[in-house]
Amino acid sequence: MLMNYTIAVIAGDGVGVEIVPQALRVLETVGSRFGHTFDFKHVLMGGCALDVTGSPLPQETIDACLASDGVLLGAVGGPKWDNVPSDLRPESGLLTLRSAMGLYANIRPAILFEPLKSASPLRADIVDQGIDMVIVRELTGGIYFGKRGRIIGEGDSEGSVEAYDTECYSEEEVRRIANVAFQTAMIRGKKLTSIDKANVLESSRLWREVTHEVAQDYPEVEVGDMLVDNAAMQLVRNPSQFDVILANNIFGDILSDEAAMITGSIGMLGSASMGDTKRGLFEPIHGSAPDIAQRDIANPIATILSAAMMLKYSFGLFEESASIERAVDAVLAAGIRTCDIQDGSTTETVGTNQMGESICKAIETQR
Ligand code: NAD
Repeated sequence: MLMNYTIAVIAGDGVGVEIVPQALRVLETVGSRFGHTFDFKHVLMGGCALDVTGSPLPQETIDACLASDGVLLGAVGGPKWDNVPSDLRPESGLLTLRSAMGLYANIRPAILFEPLKSASPLRADIVDQGIDMVIVRELTGGIYFGKRGRIIGEGDSEGSVEAYDTECYSEEEVRRIANVAFQTAMIRGKKLTSIDKANVLESSRLWREVTHEVAQDYPEVEVGDMLVDNAAMQLVRNPSQFDVILANNIFGDILSDEAAMITGSIGMLGSASMGDTKRGLFEPIHGSAPDIAQRDIANPIATILSAAMMLKYSFGLFEESASIERAVDAVLAAGIRTCDIQDGSTTETVGTNQMGESICKAIETQR
């Protein structure tokens, strides 16, 4: 069925303005191949928005995002804005946008691309088992948002300072993120590992209880619990055992970086932030890379794969999404590489623009 989707596009700062156009041309190519149209609404966020409007997140941008079917973001930030007041920092625009869109789930795939195996820091015999997992991280609760403060001692301990941060989750918060993780498992390998520290933390014991309650609605999904310290170890010992990992905000933050690192492909991984609706925010996991901006050398693949995630998670276009993933695989297998992913099998080193073009060609010529 011919469909039209409105996409809010935030190129942002640094390499954002180079990599996002490549993702847009890939979407156009997929659209014409499968008979869909995408209406791109370009809006400002980050340092560029601050320069033009005095705010890192103008209201017009929030409105456009809320009126869209999905949001594609490059990256924001850069040294030019490092010293502006914290509420005007480019990154604060992103945090405000996530909250305005009600995005509480961060979905981060960690995939080892077969042609880039040698980039993984893990031993070849471990990597040979394959790495293909998704981490579903709770994004708006837990210790990063709990009560915090400092207490100045009185009496005997006068003047000594204590500091505290609080990990607090409600049943509802756990239930909604668990649902996202189980739904993700249903469209993947139907295996879910829930991470906690239930041997020590009460909040983790609630996490475990609620996760198992939600599991009853997904009888096809094999569910297991794993303590976070063990998970950190298992990720490097035997990463192929994981399909979907469900974690709270802080554990997910740490484990998702570890999982990305073992793939050796930090510049190649996309991410999605989702809430109660299908409308999500899709972005590469890397930043604005100011050190390589404006040189046509940034790798656009993470952003292109983020666009593929949008097709899958927001629009339910699974075949279209898979066609992008297959095209990326084909281009890498042909030895076409940007300079950040060079190895012995490189046949041609290309720039940002040419990588986008190669992926479009691969989509056009797919059978
Ligand atoms: P970074 O991810 O931008 O860069 C880290 C390193 O990876 C750099 O050497 C860079 O050249 C390289 N790199 C990143 N993306 C690449 C790509 N697509 N192709 C090739 N190489 C790539 O992290 P950083 O240097 O710590 O941060 C730079 C700026 O980005 C900062 O202002 C930071 O606040 C911001 N940032 C934004 C986001 C976001 O928008 N979501 C996320 C992280 C950092």
